[in-house]
Amino acid sequence: MSEQADAVIIGAGVIGAAIAFEMNKAGYRTLSIDKNPAAGYGPTSGSCAIIRVHYSTLEGTAFAYEGYFYWRDWAEYLEVTDERGLAEFREVGCLVMRTKQNGFLNKHIALCKELGVPFEIWDEAEITKRLPIYDLTSYWPAKQMNDEGFGEPGAGRVESGVFFPTAGYVTDPQLSTHNLQRAAEAKDGRFIFNRRVVEIMQENGRVSGVRLDDNSRVHAPIVVNVAGPASAKINEMAGALGDMTITTRPLRQEVVHVPSPQDFDFFNQAPVISDSDIACYCRPEQGNHILIGSEDPECDQKEWVDDEEYNREFTDQWTLQAYRYAQRVPGLEIPSRLKGVVDLYDVTEDWIPIYDKSMIPGFYMAIGSSGNQYKNAPIAGKMMAALIDYCEKGNDHDEVPLRFELPYTKRSMDVGFYSRKRSINQESSFSVLG
Ligand SMILES: Cc1cc2nc3c(=O)[nH]c(=O)nc-3n(C[C@H](O)[C@H](O)[C@H](O)COP(=O)(O)OP(=O)(O)OC[C@H]3O[C@@H](n4cnc5c(N)ncnc54)[C@H](O)[C@@H]3O)c2cc1C
Repeated sequence: MSEQADAVIIGAGVIGAAIAFEMNKAGYRTLSIDKNPAAGYGPTSGSCAIIRVHYSTLEGTAFAYEGYFYWRDWAEYLEVTDERGLAEFREVGCLVMRTKQNGFLNKHIALCKELGVPFEIWDEAEITKRLPIYDLTSYWPAKQMNDEGFGEPGAGRVESGVFFPTAGYVTDPQLSTHNLQRAAEAKDGRFIFNRRVVEIMQENGRVSGVRLDDNSRVHAPIVVNVAGPASAKINEMAGALGDMTITTRPLRQEVVHVPSPQDFDFFNQAPVISDSDIACYCRPEQGNHILIGSEDPECDQKEWVDDEEYNREFTDQWTLQAYRYAQRVPGLEIPSRLKGVVDLYDVTEDWIPIYDKSMIPGFYMAIGSSGNQYKNAPIAGKMMAALIDYCEKGNDHDEVPLRFELPYTKRSMDVGFYSRKRSINQESSFSVLG
């Protein structure tokens, strides 16, 4: 079999599917290829799908705030219906505790003021009024379970937080990706599943397509790497690693799923919450449950793994995260049957993604999403389509980086911010918070 397309997109996760939709809108007929049986079955399906607007850099905040509007206006953005229904964005807001570790969010507050991002300051009384199950005793610094003093209060209390109303989460990230697939197909994009890309073909100094694991070939002058935690392998396959100062690698993560204390309607009353004092973030989940993720404190060993050969079972990390959260919610019951998610982030040195061209003409990458780019998928798709078009028209993005106007917020972005050749961005939180 031999196929032809204007562009091949490797990976049909949420960002890959958004790039497919946006490239077809821009006139490129794409073929998306994924080794999984359906769109969004990779790490996207394990995502907590939190949509939040606070990031530690100006560009990150501007991008995330822009990203929010696509989820708010999801049906209009897609321009299609999906026989499976549309994913739901629950705009429950996001509360971030002000702690010494995050500089009491003073930098974030300044960035939000500069960008016009709405926020409110909640004092201790307001937080406990909204979250009566919360005990705001400080437990910082985070510890391992067998460290002396684990679970014992530290000094002081968490005294306030910042609430961002334009935030929440998407209830079904896999469905949102299927929505994007249908939107892309309506614009003539095509998808092939259960097929793995095994070679990036090149001719006359540029990419010419890909070879698949059934030995079939797809000929295309453009190939986009959106392979999530397999991104480094795909870059290596293409021979594209040579000029990259920023690289990507898979990091294993566990997300805990526990019931809320019965006397509180967490599902309907709680926002998304980021709490660096206990190194956890959480959000409501159906059935009055709570999802608890880690903010990766220094005392936790990072588990860098192979994207296909890693432990998919829960470990002591699950219990550690549940107990850390129980410090904040003393009434939390931790079930003996462990539920949740084990999946992978694709992490860069500064936890900021790479949205860029490569040293090989026609080969592009949208990778290193570092556990925090689900929310940005639609705007990343738009920006990648613009970047590819800019480069294909003969512009040198490395020399003269594309400036891209964010359609909702009208801010002009230097796309070079996401360059594979940048120096490590010291403004980053160096964590999943971006
Ligand atoms: C546990 C967890 C929680 C998260 N929580 C949040 C959150 O709350 N908010 C947020 O904004 N972000 C979050 N993220 C990050 C977010 O989910 C990711 O940034 C996003 O899903 C990445 O999408 P993607 O399109 O890059 O592809 P991925 O979902 O990473 O998928 C890559 C695809 O590439 C395919 N592929 C790989 N190699 C090949 C090959 N050789 N041939 C064919 N196909 C291939 C895979 O099958 C896969 O489907 C979280 C991630 C995880 C793991």
